[in-house]
Amino acid sequence: MVRGNSGTGFWASATGFAKTIGAGLSFPHDNASVSCRLLPNAVVVKAVSRLRTRPHNSARRQTHTTIMQPYDLFFPHRLWCRGNLFMRSGFSGVFLCCVLFLLAGAACAQDVFPLDFTVIRLGEGPRTALVVGGIQGDEPGGFSAATLLTTHYRIESGSVWVVPNLNFPSIIKRTRGLHGDMNRKFARLDAKDPEFTTVRRIQELIDHPQVALVLNLHDGSGYYRHKYEDKLRNPARWGQSVIIDQSDLPGVFMGALEAEARNAAAQANESLIHTGHRLHVHNTKTADGDQEMEKSLSFYAVRQGKAAFGLEASKEFSVELRAYYHLLMVESFLRQAGMHFSRSFALTPEGVRGALQDNLAVSFADNRVFLPLEDARPAINYLPLPKSGPAQAVPTKPIMAVLPCATSDNGQFCVYYGNRMLTLIRPEWREVDNSLSAVPVRVDGKDKLVPFGQVVYVGESLQVQSMDGYRVNAIGFDNGMPDEAGVELRLKDFMQRFSVDKQGKMFRVEVYRNQLFSGMFLIYFDNAKKNNPNRPRMARNAGALPDRPGPESSLGF
Ligand SMILES: [Zn+2]
Repeated sequence: MVRGNSGTGFWASATGFAKTIGAGLSFPHDNASVSCRLLPNAVVVKAVSRLRTRPHNSARRQTHTTIMQPYDLFFPHRLWCRGNLFMRSGFSGVFLCCVLFLLAGAACAQDVFPLDFTVIRLGEGPRTALVVGGIQGDEPGGFSAATLLTTHYRIESGSVWVVPNLNFPSIIKRTRGLHGDMNRKFARLDAKDPEFTTVRRIQELIDHPQVALVLNLHDGSGYYRHKYEDKLRNPARWGQSVIIDQSDLPGVFMGALEAEARNAAAQANESLIHTGHRLHVHNTKTADGDQEMEKSLSFYAVRQGKAAFGLEASKEFSVELRAYYHLLMVESFLRQAGMHFSRSFALTPEGVRGALQDNLAVSFADNRVFLPLEDARPAINYLPLPKSGPAQAVPTKPIMAVLPCATSDNGQFCVYYGNRMLTLIRPEWREVDNSLSAVPVRVDGKDKLVPFGQVVYVGESLQVQSMDGYRVNAIGFDNGMPDEAGVELRLKDFMQRFSVDKQGKMFRVEVYRNQLFSGMFLIYFDNAKKNNPNRPRMARNAGALPDRPGPESSLGF
């Protein structure tokens, strides 16, 4: 099980994804897009989506997952694939270049790793609000707020579709746009544009008859003001505003755009952290000849007869403060659309910060390997990953991705969270043994069964019970014996530099059957938590805001 926030959800594989890429080259059958390239000495990567079903409200959540698999095939170069599945979304499958490449044997190298956006559907209802984040990769307030909607909100009535990572490659690369400004590609676009497929797919979503409201989340410079006040506060700035293309869109739901925008801004303005942060409505009057805005996503939506708003938080703020203002605006719009929702954190900048930092983790191989990453060391070495079966990387947030590190062709993987790299993984590829899913241990004198993937909180010591045919390797613990089953593992006996976390408290315990890898769990040495054995996560660092909020906060986005 990959642990989510609620504890009530469960993961269910809901894909028709093929198991292999190389031989036979089978691909996911429906609603998928996959794109590939050939690279020397690389590792095949493909992605699948999984549905996480939440029984209590039957909302469908989708997370982005990666399958990583080493390939030693007959190709002089190996093939890279990356894709995304859209479950029940009605998209038609698009396969980019893989098949052609293999057949032609040609290279289709792009400098940029293709990485498709994710759609997460929350709630049920005939009328849907579409929330888009990350159309520009360097606007973390917007894509962080959108991500929080998917991880920490429950839509109780109405339907919200969230695309938190529209321009995912640019998010990973921390740039506005790897191929120019995506938000200027919605009027006309050359089919050869590298973002053609992405733009078409988000346009299809906007066009969907169920979508009635479109919110596009941006971070803008300075503070928008109707009249010039100073360099940072004037009509040429975009920060802290609700953007509309025109006052009214007659005959459509929430078509009184200006009135709705004023209402949302007024609601949000009741929770300003500082009076100088006041939100204003900015009518670009696009149809009167604003040739730039005519090319934008929101004007595209307006032309499709959808109420659309651009929400801009100020780039002068830290990421958490930007996301805070975004969520204030989004919540106002959802309420105005008649929707009901709940959220699992306090809507304050500190609460936003905590929610953004909690539950950062990635799991592989059906959770035989689970890595908490809130406090991860810069590199995780010799992590056992499946050699022959696909090693699925399942991150806990949709703006997380596990990708081959750009600077390396040694098969190292970088784990990204938005604009930030969390850690680097150096895998040790192993054949997997599926005969075991949990191991018997004695924790501080109590016997229990620990499933692979779990973090076990330990006060004094943990001992893995001997199992016939299996061998235990506690990483960083060495008593000179090949098998560490039956041995009391204590913090003082571990070499700190082998810990998963920077604090030196969390260690890997790996189980093997001969040369086969059976699974791994984690020991977290902390006396204060030893009586809290089911606590799935580490404590989060929810400190105060940085004194000097900058364009990029201490979250590192
Ligand atoms: Zn923007």
